[in-house]
Amino acid sequence: MEDDEAELSLLECRVCFERYGPSVPRRPLNLPCGHVLCGGCVAALAPRLECPFCRRPCSPASTSECRPLLQLLELLGPSGRLAPAPGSGSSIGGAAPAAFRLRRCLGGWGSLLNPTGVSAWPGSGRLAVAHDGEQRIHVFDPSGLCLRRFGARGDAGGEVKYPLDVAVTPDGHVVVTDGGDRAVKAFDVEGRGVLAVREGFCLPWGLDATATGELMLTDAEAGALFRLTADFPRGELRRCQRVREKLASPRAVAVCRTSGNVAVVEHLKAPGARKGSTRVKILSAEMELVAQVDNFGLDLVFHSSIHATAVAFDREGRVVVTDVCRRAVICLGKPKEFPVFNPLISHGLSYPVGLTYMADDSLVVLDSGDHAIKIYSTT
Ligand SMILES: [Zn+2]
Ligand SMILES: [Zn+2]
Repeated sequence: MEDDEAELSLLECRVCFERYGPSVPRRPLNLPCGHVLCGGCVAALAPRLECPFCRRPCSPASTSECRPLLQLLELLGPSGRLAPAPGSGSSIGGAAPAAFRLRRCLGGWGSLLNPTGVSAWPGSGRLAVAHDGEQRIHVFDPSGLCLRRFGARGDAGGEVKYPLDVAVTPDGHVVVTDGGDRAVKAFDVEGRGVLAVREGFCLPWGLDATATGELMLTDAEAGALFRLTADFPRGELRRCQRVREKLASPRAVAVCRTSGNVAVVEHLKAPGARKGSTRVKILSAEMELVAQVDNFGLDLVFHSSIHATAVAFDREGRVVVTDVCRRAVICLGKPKEFPVFNPLISHGLSYPVGLTYMADDSLVVLDSGDHAIKIYSTT
């Protein structure tokens, strides 16, 4: 698919050909089949709503907001466009990046629907993905086989309404942030719900596990970072501590397994600005600010900017982000050498929203535009 075509299919309602937007009639809504329509088209087709693409009957009450698209619109602004992908040789500062090659593509339309988060099992090639399907969590083995589906759509215990991110703990528990009932929910290896923490969150969003099995999670509405300690096998919450406040709409979060550093992506909205921007903050394990990268600094040094939706640390502690405007994965370097600007992957991505490394150092990119997991290696 051509880049322009990919952009059109992402940002426009395919029924009325109007661009999606934040207002109610233009808001992108997921149907239960996974197809996306604007609110106006859903209202026009109601009450006997049938998906115009796959003909599946559904009720307007079973639609949900398409969060990945809302986030993209917020970052691009009302008329913003996706930038052309950068060519090779555009890396600036630091060592030249190793070339990443696409090794495998999992999921795809019909298997995954508007996925929002991905996490790797420590020490195995398994991946957990959060998406909008009937069962919100899918677990894939390294060959791409879907081993397990769980977390049924809903807001009861053991169900998931709007999954925003997913993390796998060192002992193999799968934890999800649910923007629907504003809870954090944990499942065991078999997919049984073992714990739901509902108290104290405004909008839990990004999630990652530490090497010792604690969870770091962002609350986008409270502007806070939480550290959650639980005994998952017993289903007991030990502690849920607000460790950092006054963050600007923090979303994606990643923990460095070696240094304990925490990377948080903040979404900034300057007064009057129509277009959003992001800032990547690195905090030490003790929650001291170590370094940060924002568009002002990047523009000054490289005449570049980033619109980050996901963040990860590589094995050497370098910070890697997805950039939705360039549709690229960019290495920002180690916090002490900030800012570096090394595109690692700059072709073949539609709307990257998730990022993680596997135990064998493969880089996993979750592409919500293609409803797929793309696995890259440096060999
Ligand atoms: Zn429409
Ligand atoms: Zn459909």
